[in-house]
Amino acid sequence: AQAAEAKKTYTIGTDTTFAPFEFQDVNGDFVGIDIDLIKAIAADQGFEIKIQSLGFNAAVQALQSGNVDGVIAGMSITDERKKVFDFSEPYFDAGPMMGVAADNHTIQSYEDLRGQRVAVKAGTEGATFAESIRTKYDFSIVTFDDSAQLVDEVKAGGSVALFEDYPVLAYGITQGNGIKTVTPKEKGGSYGFAVNKGQNPELLKMFNQGLEKLKSNGQYDEIVAKYLGSAD
Ligand code: GLN
Repeated sequence: AQAAEAKKTYTIGTDTTFAPFEFQDVNGDFVGIDIDLIKAIAADQGFEIKIQSLGFNAAVQALQSGNVDGVIAGMSITDERKKVFDFSEPYFDAGPMMGVAADNHTIQSYEDLRGQRVAVKAGTEGATFAESIRTKYDFSIVTFDDSAQLVDEVKAGGSVALFEDYPVLAYGITQGNGIKTVTPKEKGGSYGFAVNKGQNPELLKMFNQGLEKLKSNGQYDEIVAKYLGSAD
């Protein structure tokens, strides 16, 4: 009977610095909405997880090559990605938005990016959006691997703007990261948990079942409120 009772362990890839979804707290512990969600879902559904903090692009590639079983990384559900991954039900609304240095008064709109440099994160929806308007507004793009580098780049003046998911941008601004926004957010996909297409269907099913349970019993709201404060 011992084998039948052993819980299955899944390896889950995630981003490095993507607060409030995944980041290290003051004690160096890995925390955030994604981390708490996947832990609560695993506990509810009776499976074990091993979290690998790989970086966004690396996590997506690790999933595609089968080196991780799933990815939870503020990963937007997009039609393009649905060709290679299966996604859970959406669990958080997002979309990219431009950020500039808080003391910058010259960049007020995309028009002001003309001839300037813009920082994006490899493989993200923000990078795809910036690329989609690059020719129209005639700016150049520099790509980094993690979100903290985007903020550093803009504050150091290497780039005049960055594109980042608005919940992450908004969270950083409330933490006093020296960035501000001047344009509206853009449309983007909601976040979903991803598995490789046609693989680990049982994991996807457990994620959806667990998510539904957490939403109905208030635990989902508690997790979000822990990082973002209550909505009211
Ligand atoms: N939501 C964005 C995407 O999926 C960014 C994710 C991230 O940087 N962790 O492309």
